[in-house]
Amino acid sequence: MNYDWIKTRADYDEVKPAIIDPLKGTEWSYQDMDKRAENLANHLKEQGIGHGDVVGIFAPNDVAIFDLLFATFKMGAVFLPMNWRLSPKEIQSVISDSGVKLILYAEKHKESLTGTPEGLLHMNIDSKEYDDICHPDNHRPFKTVDVESDELAALIYTSGTTGLPKGVMFTYDSFVSNIVNTALTYKINASYKTILTTPLFHVLGLNDTALPAIMVGGTLVLHRYYDGAQLNDLMAEHKPDYLTLIPTMYYGMIFEENFDIKNFENIRFLIQGGSSPLPAVQRHFESMGHTLINGYGLTEAPLAMVNTPENAKRKPMSIGKPIMYVDMKLLDDDGNEVGTNEIGELAIKGKNVTPGYWNRPDLTEKSFHNGYFLTGDLARKDEDGDIFIVNRKKELIITGGENVLPSEVESVLSEHPLVRQSIVVGFDHPKYGESVSAAVVLKEDEEGFEETLNAHMRERLAGYKVPRMYLNLTDIPLNSTAKPDRMAIQKLMNEKAQENGLVH
Ligand code: ATP
Repeated sequence: MNYDWIKTRADYDEVKPAIIDPLKGTEWSYQDMDKRAENLANHLKEQGIGHGDVVGIFAPNDVAIFDLLFATFKMGAVFLPMNWRLSPKEIQSVISDSGVKLILYAEKHKESLTGTPEGLLHMNIDSKEYDDICHPDNHRPFKTVDVESDELAALIYTSGTTGLPKGVMFTYDSFVSNIVNTALTYKINASYKTILTTPLFHVLGLNDTALPAIMVGGTLVLHRYYDGAQLNDLMAEHKPDYLTLIPTMYYGMIFEENFDIKNFENIRFLIQGGSSPLPAVQRHFESMGHTLINGYGLTEAPLAMVNTPENAKRKPMSIGKPIMYVDMKLLDDDGNEVGTNEIGELAIKGKNVTPGYWNRPDLTEKSFHNGYFLTGDLARKDEDGDIFIVNRKKELIITGGENVLPSEVESVLSEHPLVRQSIVVGFDHPKYGESVSAAVVLKEDEEGFEETLNAHMRERLAGYKVPRMYLNLTDIPLNSTAKPDRMAIQKLMNEKAQENGLVH
């Protein structure tokens, strides 16, 4: 079977702009994209890369990532977008676990490759050589290789919020199902333009934003590295039809001086995903007449649920219902479905769900229950069948035998006018095992804010849920995909607990 869909797209939309790169001042049509990919496929073949070989790329949002993706689909090779924000130790683990044979890299991320094993091939995408190889004017046709639908098409490593990154496998079928289903869900069409700022090594950037736009023949404007002020400038210049961002990215835009809601005049919908919505951001957009729609997905199933625009106005924190061809259940620890408004682990099934983790059959087995993938997220379903993510199972704080949901404490904290943002984590406590603590970003500094906040908390929450310790931060530290870095915060809290003499 032939999964070379960029070729088909190029036949339909020969001269239409597919990818605009404002920084390089380049614009590539669909036909250009197909030719670039064929040129690269020929070059990779000459380097010894063939069917089933893994080829990686370390780059910001750059046309080269699409060159490689489409080339690997033509060759039956395996596409590996690499997260350049990972630590050197994590990068080494991805390189050895994936067995990658050749890595394309941007000059800026050359250092990420320090210490890579001998024999691993490299290719600089910022070199003249790369430009010459891929340029459509130097076109060399490539004969597409046939593949099976259940063959490995891509490996995407998780951001490692809860441990070392795991290689999530995508078959040709699961990869393409995801893209088609996302395009259908958001009703993206060829007249749409979007700005891509979420990194392409993350499914929110790659599978949920970039590829649906390209598959339907739309236009993608590349923003290399997320920056709120630059994104505002691109908004002014390109007036996109939709955006798909992590909540922190919306947050970053609105607090920049050059934020202007007039740049949203063509916007048809605004999706937020990747982590829980931020109420302050939600309110800000609502006051300007725009609703942020909450979408849920994970590397293992890039888009699984999304709220509807109408429902998002009434229930902004809900992720709505499963998208087409996705089934879901909420399960208790024994694998039984929980009732309405009860909390259970979200389990999903669908063609877009991963078949498992690369080199980790043990983990794969543990991650499925009767064919349903166990997401590790706790959720509840209300009377209308709308789903709310409550927390990650692993983030649950157990203090003196009582369960505390960080999201509940964060939501009460966010109601206080002094609080701009908060992240609640457990820290090691000699008596209770774990205890509750909160990192806060305050709107203005206030002496003794801990007592002010605790007075507010005590009125609204059981005593054991009230934070025993606070950390006043100017910014919440973010992980490699711009999500709050809970592990880093937990480390800071444990250090503070140690300073305060609260150690085991
Ligand atoms: P690791 O699996 O290694 O811990 P990671 O979970 O950060 O890394 P991702 O696959 O990028 O890797 O993250 C998926 C997770 O993001 C989901 O399991 C969920 O916890 C969270 N998430 C995604 N969308 C939403 C949303 N709309 N609301 C709340 N949480 C969300």
